[in-house]
Amino acid sequence: MIRRMLLIAFIFAASVATLLNGGTAMTGGIALWSYEGESGPDRWGALASQWGICSSGHYQSPIDIRGGIPASLPAVTENIQPTPLSFGLDGPTFAVPYGSGSTLTLNGTRYELEQFHFHHPSEHTLNGRHFPMEGHLVMKSEDSDHANAVLGVFIEAGSENAMLEQFWGILPRSAKRSLGSTQVNVGDLLPENKAYYMYEGSMTTPGCPQGVRWFVMENAVQASQAQIDRFIEDLTQGEINNRPIQPTYGRAILKGM
Ligand SMILES: [Zn+2]
Repeated sequence: MIRRMLLIAFIFAASVATLLNGGTAMTGGIALWSYEGESGPDRWGALASQWGICSSGHYQSPIDIRGGIPASLPAVTENIQPTPLSFGLDGPTFAVPYGSGSTLTLNGTRYELEQFHFHHPSEHTLNGRHFPMEGHLVMKSEDSDHANAVLGVFIEAGSENAMLEQFWGILPRSAKRSLGSTQVNVGDLLPENKAYYMYEGSMTTPGCPQGVRWFVMENAVQASQAQIDRFIEDLTQGEINNRPIQPTYGRAILKGM
């Protein structure tokens, strides 16, 4: 257990903190958190003084997406360019930092793509149902009212996913070869029909900062079972990395029409 916890030690290097927590200011030291046991999600709020909101916040993510208020949400417009592949850490998994200049406009706000990563099983549920994986595109906006946002894409078992296949053979913990000059375009991960749910939530790893606008694609994309298994294999010791569903406390979930 101790070894596993050490393996997923969260190192507060400034760059990593920025990458994972949307710029939350944290300095010095190493805190341990995990997805189960004494440092698991129901304890995150007590593990560090800056993390209290993980327990006390009323705008925490993920949530069960159920029903939704029909709304005429504007269509997604995106200008996502390929980016050189590199891997950073995101708890027990990897995050791929995104080069500058790739943008998405969601509900009238223009966001710059910062990084993407994956969870197993999905963090959000749709009508109570988990998917095998969920991809997260983490974004920033210069609009201070909507500075932080994440776009979520459910991934279900089915056909091989061509976008993932471009780099799935070189995931960091099971790397079989060097990154070379591999480029990836996470725009290719998005479903053809980009209808989405929207709600106000938080980052899903400590310190769970709120003020995050979530856009969750209604339509799942597919990956082969072998690709899903490969991701699980690459997680630290084959663990999960999904935070449990959080209470909505009456939050509105808008459903695009
Ligand atoms: Zn995530």
